[in-house]
Amino acid sequence: MLKNNSLIYPILGFLALTALASVTSGYFINYAPVHKRIHQQLDEEIAAIGADVQARIDEEILGLPRLARVLQADKRLRRELSHFNEDPNADSERFHRYIKGQIELFNLDFLQLVNAEGRLIHDLHNQHLPPDIAPDQPAKPEFLPDIQEAMTYKRIVLNMAEEDNTYSIHATAPLFYKGAVLGAITIGTLINGAFSTNLSEYTGTKLALVSNSIGLFAVSDGSGKWPAVDIKMAREVILEGKRQFSEEHGNAQALFYQPVTFVDRTFTLVIFLPLEESHAPLFESAKRLVHTAITITILVVMLGGATYFVLIHPMRKLYGKARILLEVCSTSAGMVQPDPGRFRGNELQVLDNALETASMTVYANMGHLLEQKERFETLAVRDALTGLGNRRMFQDLLGTATALCRRHGGKLALFYMDLDKFKPINDTLGHDIGDMLLQEAASRLQEAVRDSDVVFRLGGDEFAALLPECSTTDLALEVGNRVLVRVKEPYHLKGHECSIGVSIGISLFPIHGEDIDTLLKSADSALYSVKESGRGRCAVAKPIKSA
Ligand code: GH3
Ligand code: MG
Repeated sequence: MLKNNSLIYPILGFLALTALASVTSGYFINYAPVHKRIHQQLDEEIAAIGADVQARIDEEILGLPRLARVLQADKRLRRELSHFNEDPNADSERFHRYIKGQIELFNLDFLQLVNAEGRLIHDLHNQHLPPDIAPDQPAKPEFLPDIQEAMTYKRIVLNMAEEDNTYSIHATAPLFYKGAVLGAITIGTLINGAFSTNLSEYTGTKLALVSNSIGLFAVSDGSGKWPAVDIKMAREVILEGKRQFSEEHGNAQALFYQPVTFVDRTFTLVIFLPLEESHAPLFESAKRLVHTAITITILVVMLGGATYFVLIHPMRKLYGKARILLEVCSTSAGMVQPDPGRFRGNELQVLDNALETASMTVYANMGHLLEQKERFETLAVRDALTGLGNRRMFQDLLGTATALCRRHGGKLALFYMDLDKFKPINDTLGHDIGDMLLQEAASRLQEAVRDSDVVFRLGGDEFAALLPECSTTDLALEVGNRVLVRVKEPYHLKGHECSIGVSIGISLFPIHGEDIDTLLKSADSALYSVKESGRGRCAVAKPIKSA
């Protein structure tokens, strides 16, 4: 019924916006800033760790190529190497001592010399290395630089031997003398568990894994426990370039990646950082705020449902009825029907308008309705043609009059009258003239009797009259004759002159009956006898007792 129920849309829209606002504000005002703070804090921590790692690498490792250049510039080293190139079996005792001196001087772990043909001519290690670090075996062949490469590039190589937890970092530099290639020098530092231990002591990190491109560092919270290093998660962090927070068994940890430059490579350190206890309340409060926002949203949605069923649904029904009322009232009051679109989106105004129009219509029509009521009441008991009381009124009054007479011992005469040969007038002069004659005869009947006497038209050309206080037959006959004379006078109707007679049967209360039926029957039989005996007379019924 209600097509334009757009009141519902602003209300539902308002509720939806409230829900959205609560979630959005919950997120932006509370949750997002808390997260931002945590991220900032962690960013600072991770940047500090990254800087420490970078500093360590710079200090420990990047000095090697500089040293290699110093050794390359060493004339004695070049002279001895030249000498070796000329005579590979030359006594090298002096040179050997010299090299050892250099290792100790520069605190190197090892120094290797390769001649121009790529042959290893010296592979010396620091004698003071602790036993767990000093290799038992001579340097592995793969540590040796390719002579061509060594002469082309200056480089640092990170070598891994994960099986024995040994790493070496070495720098290689070519050696030239008077434009000729003498060979190459490789110096280096061995690193193993000690490096990672040192590093972790220094930076508070633990080296978990080192490859050519990725270093994984787990950061201790100082309690001696190390967070689990999840390579899969680390890979995701690197690939997606994001931070990740994970929470397992109540232990929250964050993963970050931090680029660290190592010689000409950039290593990505993925750092597993256990979240400090100070972070936990922040996470908790953020969670609580989100829960609150969700609760508010649910409440708002429930409120929306309740509003619909309590307010909107009944309003829709009322709106439909109001529209009908408005249309009915407007039509009955002859007003222009309101344009339904005029009230679109404002059902309350429709209700208001309908009620106002209805009350105005009722007031405006009140007088008219009362007139109509009177008219209908009159029509029910009056004859429309003559204005006399009809048969219904006649029977009512006759009943009342007989009852009064019975109670108070009153008198009453009843005239039963029928025009004589009225039908031919209808037939010859027409129904209209017949009507006019009936009206004229009616007024003459009323004129012929007293004001207190009442004349009725019972139907067709049948009339009756009630004459209270008319107690005797003589008196009744006298009135009857007066009526006969008056009715008989000529009629001038629309240029036609005509005349008519009337026959009258009379009954008297209580002589001819004390109830309606008996009185009527008596008058009727008197009338019948008049009609039978030639019409145009009045006759009193025979007394009932003698009948
Ligand atoms: P009678 O002397 O025996 O009474 O003969 P009548 O011609 O008067 O015949 P009757 O009383 O039986 O018929 C009355 C006629 O009155 C019949 C009908 O055509 C006519 N009539 C009845 N009601 C009306 C009316 O409202 N207007 C007119 N013009 N004629 C009516
Ligand atoms: Mg008649």
